[in-house]
Amino acid sequence: MSQNKGDVIKELETVFRDRLFTEPHILALYSHDASSEVGVKPMAVVQPVSVDEVVRVVKLAIDYGFKIVPVGSSTSLSGNATPKLENTVIVSLERMNSIIEVSDIDWYARVQPGIKVDELNLELMGYGLQWPVDPASSKTATVGGVISNGGGGMRGAKYGPASHWVLGLEAVIGTGDVIRVGCRTVKCREGYNLVQVFIGSEGTLGIVTEATLRLTPLPESFVGVMARFGNAESLVDAVIRVRRDKLWPMVTEFIDDITAQILNLEPGYYLWIGVDTYTGSEQQILSKLSADISSSGGEIISKASTWQEFSKILEPRRMLYSATLKAAFNDYGTDVFVAFEDVAVPMSKLPEAVREIQSLGKKYNVKMNLGGHIGDGNLHPSVWARRSDRDEMDRVLRFFEDVGKLAIRLSGTVSAEHGIGTQKRGLLREAISSRNGGNSDMVIGLMKGIKRIFDPHGIFNPGKIFD
Ligand SMILES: Cc1cc2nc3c(=O)[nH]c(=O)nc-3n(C[C@H](O)[C@H](O)[C@H](O)COP(=O)(O)OP(=O)(O)OC[C@H]3O[C@@H](n4cnc5c(N)ncnc54)[C@H](O)[C@@H]3O)c2cc1C
Repeated sequence: MSQNKGDVIKELETVFRDRLFTEPHILALYSHDASSEVGVKPMAVVQPVSVDEVVRVVKLAIDYGFKIVPVGSSTSLSGNATPKLENTVIVSLERMNSIIEVSDIDWYARVQPGIKVDELNLELMGYGLQWPVDPASSKTATVGGVISNGGGGMRGAKYGPASHWVLGLEAVIGTGDVIRVGCRTVKCREGYNLVQVFIGSEGTLGIVTEATLRLTPLPESFVGVMARFGNAESLVDAVIRVRRDKLWPMVTEFIDDITAQILNLEPGYYLWIGVDTYTGSEQQILSKLSADISSSGGEIISKASTWQEFSKILEPRRMLYSATLKAAFNDYGTDVFVAFEDVAVPMSKLPEAVREIQSLGKKYNVKMNLGGHIGDGNLHPSVWARRSDRDEMDRVLRFFEDVGKLAIRLSGTVSAEHGIGTQKRGLLREAISSRNGGNSDMVIGLMKGIKRIFDPHGIFNPGKIFD
């Protein structure tokens, strides 16, 4: 059936009533995510409250030929949640935000996709459990968004990204069917792993309507430090020493001197290390950390003995994104473009990666700051330019590309946790080519084949990953 906007809106109205939005200011809000990607106003926003309503909007999309961008809180940083076509309906999962079940014996939680990560973890605290996927955006980011972006975060140094912490999913795919994949047990060998196919698929395969999340206990005891260094080399050296000592911190995060300055901290490079442990081992861990930090030329400026205390001293690191925006808007106001890089390299390559990123910044003479999840090799150099300044924009984009190429050269990845969205499509091809004799066609072709199976009518989130 061909598309008629008036008919589509009428049909949506019968399903969603006061949970359908077409007001221009609301459409403007949903026309972009937290990246600088320029989107278009969608034709409508709907907020389903049940899987049946999700099925109904997908079936309408099949009948009327409109596109769907599923969103959680739209905090994506690579254009993942930014609509690119006007005939888009945003399906916002924000009202499907319940915790359905928590098992403190089986250590899983069944949740709806719109629950925010912090809200979930607050509830889990009562059970002595956590979902340890903890993006810096955890106050806002939804579980469905984190799963769909394959996100990671502040506890990634030990616990890794979302792909380690999802046991099962319910989703509505592009035929309008509801599928349930995965298990409630950690061991689950039931054919191809379709749970993992969904994780990081950025809303291109279907809409996640429920997730069974793997949980782990909160630490019995904790040793946390915040340390300051004179330069990036000595900070990286401390991280490597901790690694050599076989300490396995839950949190290893950093910011550079420019970010520190924006946040009004004393000048320096800041490192946060938090080790989850058992009662009785704290002193030994603290001695090792102190020795590693001072041997690298750093000084401990704050300590914490519980996860809650540590969360407070970690707050400046969670402000990396807002610090970047503050500096960028101060420089250029609303004419600003910010590119948030998200590469990861093997830990042994960190010294080289940090050195080279800083020298690329100088080479292209760009405004930048640096921080990230250094404990899993994940670096976020952010750069900004005046949008209307062609030369500066060109330098920023070349920096962005070169950092991606550097990650490939150092056996790392062009996208650690933010996803491909619209901004990393070229780099995705380069990364795949680098591992496949200079050609990405076969692997990209397989991915496109998977997309066609799940989404035969091409409804979901067009223009992302490889379109
Ligand atoms: C301040 C700040 C800090 C950040 N820190 C981190 C960090 O530490 N680690 C990290 O990984 N990321 C980080 N991010 C990026 C972002 O917050 C994460 O990727 C987060 O997981 C996105 O969640 P969301 O609910 O906003 O998802 P959205 O941005 O709304 O959506 C993310 C993607 O998933 C799709 N999607 C959303 N919900 C569903 C669903 N139910 N079913 C199918 N597809 C869906 C969307 O189409 C989109 O492609 C940060 C962003 C900001 C602004």
